[in-house]
Amino acid sequence: MGRDLSLAPCGLVVERVETEAAGLLIMARPASKTATCPTCGSASGRIHSTYERSLADLPSQGRAVRIRLWTRRFRCVLMTCRQRIFTERLAATAARPFARRTTRLEGIVHHLGLALGGRPGQGFARRLLLPVSKDTLLRVVRRHAALPIEAPRVVGIDDWAFKRGHRYGTIVCDLERRRIIDLLPDREAATVAAWLAARPSIGVIARDRGAGYIQAATDGRPEATQVADRWHLMENASAAFLTVVQRSMQAVRKAVGSDVVDPTALSCAERRQHSGWLRREEENTAILALAKQGVAIKEIVRQTGKSRGLVRQVVRGGRMDVFRSRMGSLDPFLKQLDADWVNGCRNGAALWRRVKAAGFAGGLRVVAEWATRRRKEEGTAPGGVRPRKVPSARGIVRMMTTERDLLSKTVARTMAIIEGAVPALVVARDLVDRFHSMIQRRASTDLEPWIMDAAPSLLGSFVTGIVQDRAGVHAALTQPWSNGQTEGQNTKLKLVKRQMYGRANLDLLRARLLGAA
Ligand SMILES: [Zn+2]
Repeated sequence: MGRDLSLAPCGLVVERVETEAAGLLIMARPASKTATCPTCGSASGRIHSTYERSLADLPSQGRAVRIRLWTRRFRCVLMTCRQRIFTERLAATAARPFARRTTRLEGIVHHLGLALGGRPGQGFARRLLLPVSKDTLLRVVRRHAALPIEAPRVVGIDDWAFKRGHRYGTIVCDLERRRIIDLLPDREAATVAAWLAARPSIGVIARDRGAGYIQAATDGRPEATQVADRWHLMENASAAFLTVVQRSMQAVRKAVGSDVVDPTALSCAERRQHSGWLRREEENTAILALAKQGVAIKEIVRQTGKSRGLVRQVVRGGRMDVFRSRMGSLDPFLKQLDADWVNGCRNGAALWRRVKAAGFAGGLRVVAEWATRRRKEEGTAPGGVRPRKVPSARGIVRMMTTERDLLSKTVARTMAIIEGAVPALVVARDLVDRFHSMIQRRASTDLEPWIMDAAPSLLGSFVTGIVQDRAGVHAALTQPWSNGQTEGQNTKLKLVKRQMYGRANLDLLRARLLGAA
């Protein structure tokens, strides 16, 4: 019988195929008539003895497959060789020495172990007719993880929770090759420093801003460039602003309680807006008073000299703002929106379709936000001032930063009062803005001026931290490396850990993550 490559791995000749209870049995022999001595390298055709070897292979036609072959022992032909007898080796693509599975089955087993772990992998393997136990799956995974890795040059270090909130380890990634290269059992500076010290190839270390890892990097590889993580820098700056607001809450409460905008505490632009608001408030009050007496809109227009549209707007309570909202693109359509709203169209999408038909180029969101605000304002009767609520510190942070441009008129007014009473908050907010923008633009030359400006502000302790980690922060603005990737790998780690149902044993977790590359 000739060679049949579809039935046996490369380097083996199939002699016979038998059906047995457990599946298919392929009888095979090595194709080569000679073998090479592993010690001296000379080829020998002198067979000393044979022994039977059994290899599990990939299943075929719904049956498990076993390959039985006679492997030979050869005598070395070189008289001076100290190896007198040697066992022939199969091609690496067929099976490793002493392996009990073909290389192609081993590959599948490895991937199954990586993807599913021990017990679930075993169940799945049984369905695939792969004869492997959970221990085998894990052993294969461990063996592949132990393969040597290339010397890393740029690493990212971060901590990860072994058991959430109880025990932490350290994850190390090769940022150039985008893979996890080690998991350390804790996040002690000494452990990490020793790991780094043993790897002289490392020249760049991206790390978070915790004192532990700064220490570890400095002790372990003092000559390496440390890169503070940009994401953490952004987060730390935001957190610093929250602290500032929390510490200012007493002043905030006092300010909101007093319910008065102090024009002297406002910035120039705000003052202009504020005086405009006072003027509009006067006009509004006059118009509303007339409307209350039952005076027709036409007559109010005549008496006040204001436009018909404006009078209608005021009568309907649509003009109560301190600081103008920044709608911009929607401005020319406000009249129409207002009319539709009054006629009972209260749905954001429907309103959007109507203004779009009239030429509005903006998105649904802008209109939906307008509708939300309008709905809120309906709750506030014109003229009737409700007792002002003091926003939470987190709320103030949001309203001074991310939601700055989306405030309802009532909230904008409260915020104007707060900002007027505690101007240092505005200064701190602007400094945090500048810091964020500096990180985003990688504007390294902005760092020193920022430190100078921020030092006397309420952000004091955050600035101290930046000064202490000056080199790391500067590197974050000049180096392409970031720990963002390590965080991503940390997510992968969490996923694998969850599959292991919390029984994560470090060595196994490490094996599953490291072998995955
Ligand atoms: Zn030899």
